[in-house]
Amino acid sequence: MHSNVIPVAASPSYSAAYQSVEFDAELLGRLAKSGPRYTSYPTADRFSESFGYRDYLQAVAGVRTRGGAKPLSLYLHIPFCDTVCYYCACNKIVTKNREKAATYLAYLKREVEMQGLLFSGMNEVEQLHFGGGTPTYLSDAQMGELMAHLHRLFRFAPDGVGEYSIEVDPRTVTPERVHSLREQGFNRISLGVQDFDPEVQKAVNRIQPEAETRSVIDAARGAGFRSVSVDLIYGLPRQTLKTIGETLDKVITCNPDRIAVYHYAHMPHLFKPQRRINESELPSSDAKLAMLSLCIERLSKAGYVYIGMDHFAKPTDDLAVAQQQGRLHRNFQGYSTHSDTDLVSCGVSAISSVGATYSQNVKTLDAYYDLLDCNELPIARGIRMTMDDALRRTLIQKLMCQFEVSIPALEQAFPIQFDEYFESELAQLRELERDGLVTRDAEWITVSMKGRLLIRNVCMVFDRYLASRGNGPRHSQTI
Ligand code: SF4
Repeated sequence: MHSNVIPVAASPSYSAAYQSVEFDAELLGRLAKSGPRYTSYPTADRFSESFGYRDYLQAVAGVRTRGGAKPLSLYLHIPFCDTVCYYCACNKIVTKNREKAATYLAYLKREVEMQGLLFSGMNEVEQLHFGGGTPTYLSDAQMGELMAHLHRLFRFAPDGVGEYSIEVDPRTVTPERVHSLREQGFNRISLGVQDFDPEVQKAVNRIQPEAETRSVIDAARGAGFRSVSVDLIYGLPRQTLKTIGETLDKVITCNPDRIAVYHYAHMPHLFKPQRRINESELPSSDAKLAMLSLCIERLSKAGYVYIGMDHFAKPTDDLAVAQQQGRLHRNFQGYSTHSDTDLVSCGVSAISSVGATYSQNVKTLDAYYDLLDCNELPIARGIRMTMDDALRRTLIQKLMCQFEVSIPALEQAFPIQFDEYFESELAQLRELERDGLVTRDAEWITVSMKGRLLIRNVCMVFDRYLASRGNGPRHSQTI
C-alpha cells in the first residue's frame, strides 16, 4: 500500500475523458532517478562526429527521392542573453554587446538561405519556433528582417494552419513589441516566468516584476496570439510551498493556454551559472515533491490537463486535443501537434531531424562562422538511425505522448515479433508493472495514472544505449 497518494481531484470543467495524473510520493521518492528527457531517440549524447555535412546532404536527397511530401518544421536558435539566470542550463552567450547579434544574424541568414535552397520545391513550413538564449534579444527591426528572409526562402502554411511560436523573456519586450511580433507572423508565444516571488527572483538573478509579465500576457491576448504559454520552475533557491502556491494562483489568473512546470536540476559541475546558487537555500527533495504535488493539484483544479513531462494545457488547447486524437508529437522544443514533419534547425548548437537522421550544429560562434564562410552547413555531429533506433524511437514517442503503445501496430510497422525482440526489456518492464507504473496485455502497454510522472523511467527500459553509457549525472532527475 502506497503512502501519501494524492489523486488529482477533477474540477467541474475537467472532463474525465481527458488525461489525468496521480501523485504518489512514495513511488516518486523511491523510483525517481536521472534520465534523458527523450526530446530525441537516440539521445544527443549518441551523436557522432563521423556524421557531417555530406551525410546531411544525403539525408535531404533521400527526402527528395521519396517525393519530399512532408511539411517542414523550422527552428531558429538565438543564443544571446542580456544577463545570466543562475539556474540556466541552456547553450547561451551572455553579452550586452549588440553588435554580436548583428554579426550572428548575418551568418544565420546565410544558413537559412542554404537550407532554403536545399529544400526548394519541398519547403512548405507548418511549424516555426524561435528559441534561445533570448530570441527577443534581436531588435524589432532585426526580427522583421529575419522573418522576411525566412518567408522569401520557405513557403509558410496560412496563419490558421501553421504553428509559429517564439520564446519571450518578458523583461525584454514592451506591449508594442508583442504586437509587432504578431504582425511579423508569430501566433504562439511562450513566456519565461519561473517564480513571481521577489526573493526567489533575487536568488536566481532574474528580476522580473509581476506587472511587467502581466502586461506582456495582456498584450499577447490583445494582439491575437492563438496560444499563450507560461514556464515555471520548482526547486529553485528560497522557494517554499507558500511562494509556489502564490505564483500558481497568480499564473492561473493570467489564464494561459499552456503551463510548463519544470523541475530545477542542480548540476553545477555541468552548468557554470548554477555555481552561483547558494546550495543552502535549495529546497529539500521532500519539499520539492510537495511542490510538485501542489502544482499538479492546483493546475488540475483550475481545469488544466496533464499532457506529460512537465506540461499542462487547457482541454481545448491544440496539444490536449492532439493527445486525445493520438497525434501528439515530441521534439527538441517539447510537445507539438505537427507530427509528420522534417525538422530543419539553424543557429549554433541547433539540432535537425531529417529523414532517418539527426544532426547538430557546432556550438561556438567562431566554428559556426568559419564553416559558413567555407559555404558549408555548420554541422558538427549527428546520427543515421538504424531500424532498431527507428523502432525504439516510435515506441518511446508513443509512450511519451500518448502514455500507451499498440503492440500490433508496432509489429505491423516493423519486421519484429514484439515479445521475442524485447524479451529482456519486458522482464524489466514487469518490475514497473509490479510497482503499478504500467500494465501490459496482448495488445497494449499502458502507463498508469501514477506512472505518468515517471514516464522517463518507463521509456528508459527501451533505451538500448543506456546500459552502455551508465546512469551517471549526465541527465537531470526524472522528478
Ligand atoms: S534562462 Fe533563458 S534568459 Fe536566463 S540565461 Fe538562460 S537562456 Fe538566458
